[in-house]
Amino acid sequence: MGTPEIAAEVKTKLDAARAALAQHITGAPGVPADGSLSAGWKGDVCLTCSFQAEDVLLTKLAVALDPKIPILFLDTGYHFAETYAYRDRIASEWNLNLINLLPEKTVAEQEAEFGLLYKTAPDRCCGFRKVEPLFKAVAGYRVWITGLRREQARTRAALEESSLFTLPGGRQVLKLAPLAAWTTRDVWYACEELGIPLLPLYERGYSSIGCEPCTSLPTDPNDPRSGRWAGAQGVKIECGIHIQAAPVS
Ligand code: SF4
Repeated sequence: MGTPEIAAEVKTKLDAARAALAQHITGAPGVPADGSLSAGWKGDVCLTCSFQAEDVLLTKLAVALDPKIPILFLDTGYHFAETYAYRDRIASEWNLNLINLLPEKTVAEQEAEFGLLYKTAPDRCCGFRKVEPLFKAVAGYRVWITGLRREQARTRAALEESSLFTLPGGRQVLKLAPLAAWTTRDVWYACEELGIPLLPLYERGYSSIGCEPCTSLPTDPNDPRSGRWAGAQGVKIECGIHIQAAPVS
């Protein structure tokens, strides 16, 4: 496909993503509210941002609609120095309403009590440093916007653009994935078109970037997340924040 075709395709996808965001961020009329969620969306929307390309792209689109939309960042304490520097740069230049979600324990406290959980029990580490803080925060909103894409992992292949997500305890939030159908090529093309600077770690060959101890260069060029939790040998490919609680009986 040539550049004009890519440009047209990405423009169509950008328009659709903007429309999906506008429905919920600005409360555009005609939005069918789910029966379990009351109307009056404005102010009830948050966006989680890891500061990877798709999240930063969505952030750019979202703040154009509401400059004060809460941007939630999971500050695990284990991110690359480059990620923290990039987060601070984008937050400052875009004047983001950035909310850093902190775990109950600092890295030092957790390591003193449990050792290096990212080596011995990564699910537990993710539970403490990502899942618990995120679910606690998201419970305060009606709508949770994410940069998830189907192409990212086999666990995301059936991702819907809009779905109800059940938090522990049964509370439900409307979870949006406006970029669900986007390819990596689409994301990079759009970022370039919109002049969005990207996390410099991509230039070093990383294709999916999380906490430093659990992120390595991809081992499979066809699997962008093959460098995540590489020590878990493919067993662990999700941190858990996108796995919803079992239905409350
Ligand atoms: S990605 Fe690794 S370091 Fe980060 S919270 Fe999960 S196990 Fe811990």
